[in-house]
Amino acid sequence: MHRSRRLASNLHDLRSAAASLPDAIVLLDQQQRVRWFNHAAESLLGLRRPHDRNALLQARLHGSELANWLQGDSSHPLHDIAAPGQPSRHINVEMLPFGHHQHLLLARDISHLTRLEQIRRDFVANVSHELRTPLTVIHGYLELLDPEDVPDLAPVLGEMRTQSRRMGQIVEDLLTLSRLETQNTVSDERVPMASLLATLRKEAEAISQGRHRIVLDATAHVDLLGSPKDLHSALSNLVSNAVRYTPADGTITIRWERTPDGALYSVNDTGFGIPADHLARLTERFYRVSSSRSRDSGGTGLGLSIVKHVLNLHQGRLEIHSTPGQGSTFACRFGKERLLPEHTGEDDFPPDFPDTP
Ligand code: ADP
Repeated sequence: MHRSRRLASNLHDLRSAAASLPDAIVLLDQQQRVRWFNHAAESLLGLRRPHDRNALLQARLHGSELANWLQGDSSHPLHDIAAPGQPSRHINVEMLPFGHHQHLLLARDISHLTRLEQIRRDFVANVSHELRTPLTVIHGYLELLDPEDVPDLAPVLGEMRTQSRRMGQIVEDLLTLSRLETQNTVSDERVPMASLLATLRKEAEAISQGRHRIVLDATAHVDLLGSPKDLHSALSNLVSNAVRYTPADGTITIRWERTPDGALYSVNDTGFGIPADHLARLTERFYRVSSSRSRDSGGTGLGLSIVKHVLNLHQGRLEIHSTPGQGSTFACRFGKERLLPEHTGEDDFPPDFPDTP
């Protein structure tokens, strides 16, 4: 009797601990019927006791994003959705296997994190926006000054111009990133790859100034569906990096090829390469393998971040392979849903891409 009283008391303690957790917990049976839920599940998911006991969770949350997720493949976590019980709050949801064919649905309130993230985004966007005008004015005056009028200051003037251009580029890249971060979708326009690839090649030649061999190998014969401006900016970033991080006499190969599940755009170079321990962090803002090399080559440290965001918006994936001292390949994988048969009509051929990103 003593043991069973202790067990009952332990069970009671465990239940009340789970009941007062700040995360919503719902215990589901094999058919996804609600067996038990804690207090947070009432406020976040809108469940009510006692009548939601044994209710089918999917039917109970009908019409919400969570119900669609429960109906489909709920093995992958669901990020940042409105809480069905309190739409002003944001939650992350995951489903964990539990006991015998049962499941535990966990919903974590991430409203606080989302708000901090929003504050960070707004701050970066506002600062960049505020810096834009003064920088344009400074840059304009620097361009007006003729080094020949002030020969003693000529080297200083040159350096000031370079730095003000660099600052301007950082501000523009930060504004681009802010825009991409707040966007959930992109325009679905035809991106004619033949002319885009020709433009990318011209850009590579312009940056290289004859110091590299530029090869274009386009066998895919398909166009992309998405935002022409953003895709141009992403794909040309990879080309510009390849040229900037490859010493003279190297080769840059731009490829556009079909794969079993879509198409692959890749830029291969025979340049400096990147040590393996840096690869995972390359798409972070301002992450550089070598700061001096990036700065000397005119980099802002934001290029690959932009590439990643643009690809995410197009459900694409960035893959990076590199061997130090031998070179790197940056590849963008696009799914079939983003491909269109190549445009061959001449009458309504879309406008060409601008020559500069
Ligand atoms: P940056 O403006 O500095 O080039 P990116 O975001 O485009 O910034 O790239 C981040 C870093 O990744 C670079 O500073 C560089 O160290 C490394 N990197 C990018 N592309 C290459 C490449 N093709 N070869 C070697 N290193 C590269």
